[in-house]
Amino acid sequence: MTTIVIAEINNGSIQETTKELISAAHSIEGNPVLIIPCSNASTADGASNFEGVSQVIAAKSDVFGTYDASAWADALDSVMPQGTIVAAASQQSKDLAARIAAKRNLSVVQDVVSIENGEFTSPIYSGKAMQTVRCNGDAVITVRANIFNPVSSGGSNSVQVVDTSGNVATAVREMIERASKRLDVSEANIIISGGRGMGDPSNFSHLEQIADVIGAAVGASRAAVDTWDEIPHSMQVGQTGKTVNPNLYIAVGISGAIQHLAGMRSSKYIVAINKDADAPIFQHADYGIVATWEETLPVLKAAFQSMMA
Ligand SMILES: Cc1cc2nc3c(=O)[nH]c(=O)nc-3n(C[C@H](O)[C@H](O)[C@H](O)COP(=O)(O)OP(=O)(O)OC[C@H]3O[C@@H](n4cnc5c(N)ncnc54)[C@H](O)[C@@H]3O)c2cc1C
Repeated sequence: MTTIVIAEINNGSIQETTKELISAAHSIEGNPVLIIPCSNASTADGASNFEGVSQVIAAKSDVFGTYDASAWADALDSVMPQGTIVAAASQQSKDLAARIAAKRNLSVVQDVVSIENGEFTSPIYSGKAMQTVRCNGDAVITVRANIFNPVSSGGSNSVQVVDTSGNVATAVREMIERASKRLDVSEANIIISGGRGMGDPSNFSHLEQIADVIGAAVGASRAAVDTWDEIPHSMQVGQTGKTVNPNLYIAVGISGAIQHLAGMRSSKYIVAINKDADAPIFQHADYGIVATWEETLPVLKAAFQSMMA
């Protein structure tokens, strides 16, 4: 079972309570995925040293600039994996938890003060009594502050960004900036691969143009190779194609099937461009841009051109 913690954010920074939520999630099962709603991905960098998390995902969207329950629930739902969700029992997060529970058709338990053997205890009747419930399957729970011991700050997590803001120019700039912290993009060995989402083999010319700018190789998914005669098998990346290990792998219009991941997941920095926020590739990308390639590739080409100039 996956557990997911939604970080408690105030004024664009992660609140200490988040560390307690991670600890509460440990009482449910294993290390949780930490989701950070943010309008600026640097907000999420504050969680890079949290201990006890399996993954840190910055869910970047303009909607997180101001609280709107419905918009937040929609934006989070598209990037959160399935599982039991833990949030803070603040007024705003209780509201959000209820929205997400309704959206995912899950039970919600508010104001949890104890978690034991899969049972959640919370006060009822203004604290005059306690109730203990067990949920069938996944649930959304909110946890009261100052109950669970916060996790420490000695960890080292890389922060994955899924950018649904629709502001492609900013997303591309930020992606290059973040990638540059891990590798020298102008010197990196790079593969840019296209999938069936490219729509037509002639559209691979857009990938080739970018490849020319940065000295990259062009790859493809099996669906692209199988669908179009113009895309040769020698370009296929994956289980039945090539295993590649570049510094930078850019997947364009590729869903992220397990057989494709088998050939590229060890790349040092993975960028995904896909119009579907639910595409599995985003769970493996260091930086995901939720947009069409038609919008993104011209901006990416211009950004690389100015970087290489
Ligand atoms: C035994 C076996 C071995 C296999 N080996 C391999 C292998 O080696 N390599 C491999 O790749 N696959 C392999 N596969 C196939 C694999 O399971 C997938 O079917 C394949 O990877 C899907 O390719 P895709 O992501 O390009 O296509 P799809 O799954 O069709 O995904 C297309 C994606 O493009 C996105 N998209 C659509 N339009 C746009 C747009 N305008 N802008 C941005 N995004 C857009 C969609 O949202 C979608 O996510 C294998 C399968 C089997 C059974």
